[in-house]
Amino acid sequence: MERHTIITVKDLVKQYGDFTAVKGISFEVYENEIFGLLGPNGAGKSTTLEIIETLREKTSGHVTVDGFDLDKAPDNIKKIIGVQLQSAGYYPNLNLTELIALFSGLYNRPVDAKDLLARFNLEDKARAKFKELSGGQKQRFSIATTLINRPKIIFLDEPTTGLDPQARRNLWELIQQVRAQGTTVVITTHYMDEAEFLCDRCAIVDKGEIIALDSPDVLIDKLVAGGFERKKEVKKANLEDVFLHLTGRELRDQ
Ligand code: ADP
Repeated sequence: MERHTIITVKDLVKQYGDFTAVKGISFEVYENEIFGLLGPNGAGKSTTLEIIETLREKTSGHVTVDGFDLDKAPDNIKKIIGVQLQSAGYYPNLNLTELIALFSGLYNRPVDAKDLLARFNLEDKARAKFKELSGGQKQRFSIATTLINRPKIIFLDEPTTGLDPQARRNLWELIQQVRAQGTTVVITTHYMDEAEFLCDRCAIVDKGEIIALDSPDVLIDKLVAGGFERKKEVKKANLEDVFLHLTGRELRDQ
């Protein structure tokens, strides 16, 4: 199938003083895919994403997002992307409806807050403040807010860290729904099961370089073709299956 490229990163380098955190990486993200950036802490994932998001200066290299050159049209890029805020970005005394109205005003985009909250199973929390939400609800809300400016691409940085298995699976479904509605998703995660479930393709980054890039399926097949075998016999279920079987799949933090 012919794929349309929405992000191009070419020979991207980022130096912090003498230290080179990103060492000339190149990759493309296709329109409407879920693309994962995986790698150990310190590999250069956040640096790379923040450069694409126009939040950090690059040292050299070339980035285009939906045809806009990062050097020439960063404001055009800002308008078509959605980035998750850190929790500190949410005014503590505003409730979720008020926060959505605030963002909607900033972006100059009218939004039906009730509708948006319902999409993310937060309709009961319309009058709650961000700090009163559970971890899963906070993550759902922060993903909901990335959609307010109707972006073509959203960037999710470790969206399920710290969540219970039910909340994690619920978030996976929501991310798939966002993609099904036409948005491209770029995600970082330390959970390989999550990457395997969600990502169409993922890049594995190590010490500032991309050391593999493919679909999870192909990456696994290549490893197996090289003679890799798991030490332990694979069982038909894992402990997470046990947990979900015993405690159910419904969300607990409503
Ligand atoms: P990751 O997101 O993969 O954990 P980062 O992009 O955050 O990696 O960091 C890559 C490397 O760059 C790390 O060694 C980190 O310590 C370093 N680094 C990140 N930000 C800065 C900064 N502002 N100044 C100096 N070094 C930094």
